[in-house]
Amino acid sequence: MVRLLTGLLALMSSCLVIAPVNAQETEYAIEEVRPDIYRYTAGSYRSLFWVTEDGIVVMDTLSTEAATRLKAELDARFDVPVRYVIYSHSHYDHSYGGEVFDEPCVTFISHDLARQSMEISGAQTVLADLTFADEMSLTLGDETLHLQYHGQNNGAGSVSMLIEEADLLYVVDWIVVGRMPWTNLEGYDIEGMIRSTCDILAMDWDVFVGGHASIGDREGVEHYLGYIEALHAAVRDGMLEGKSLETLQAEIELPEYSDLLNYDAWLADNIGGVYRMLADQNYILKRPEVVEGMQSE
Ligand SMILES: [Zn+2]
Repeated sequence: MVRLLTGLLALMSSCLVIAPVNAQETEYAIEEVRPDIYRYTAGSYRSLFWVTEDGIVVMDTLSTEAATRLKAELDARFDVPVRYVIYSHSHYDHSYGGEVFDEPCVTFISHDLARQSMEISGAQTVLADLTFADEMSLTLGDETLHLQYHGQNNGAGSVSMLIEEADLLYVVDWIVVGRMPWTNLEGYDIEGMIRSTCDILAMDWDVFVGGHASIGDREGVEHYLGYIEALHAAVRDGMLEGKSLETLQAEIELPEYSDLLNYDAWLADNIGGVYRMLADQNYILKRPEVVEGMQSE
């Protein structure tokens, strides 16, 4: 990563992009999505921060570099301190950099399982002071941030964050709007992704901000759910028919979802990821009827 010209940083109307010096550099941007709610972009990563009269809530720190740049911006632009840092889940690429905000007045929050996983795996960031198992609400001024766990889907202890008065929802990694899920779905649980995304669509919100890709709406999340359900069903059905991964990768096409970014590049990898999960987590290939079907082929 190459250093940016921090002197250039200034908040312009709603969106600020700091152009990198060359194409290899990480691009940073801050964009006001709703009044006082800002999306922070660091390359392909996105986080969120919310400025309230009681202080700033930072949702994901991303990395030491990204967090350092963000803190400088927050200090320069706002006259309230950071009060809470919340981790969306356990993975390092969304939760590193916590030390940048580690001051006595700042409370770090995550799901129980995220904290446990980060602790046991020796994650090099600040662990949560405050954890929860199912849901938790934070009230700042007269507004509420609702955190909720939806079960396993990606990493450990991944939660949704809903700023209720703004109808704005933040979810990282297991929902992406306008783009295919990440390559071979390493670290994901496809059935958990489907269940959790259904859960999200049962909640009341209008604006979706993800940890990657575009800002979206309910239609974008419904389209994403349609894709992961169709992908899962196509791979499952093929495996139950005794088809090999290579055959499934050659045969499966989901043209209804070809508008998703990286559809051509990642479809075979997505199929491979679902195949691996159904084999490893569900033991589908060990089921007696499937073994018998493969032997009689
Ligand atoms: Zn991610």
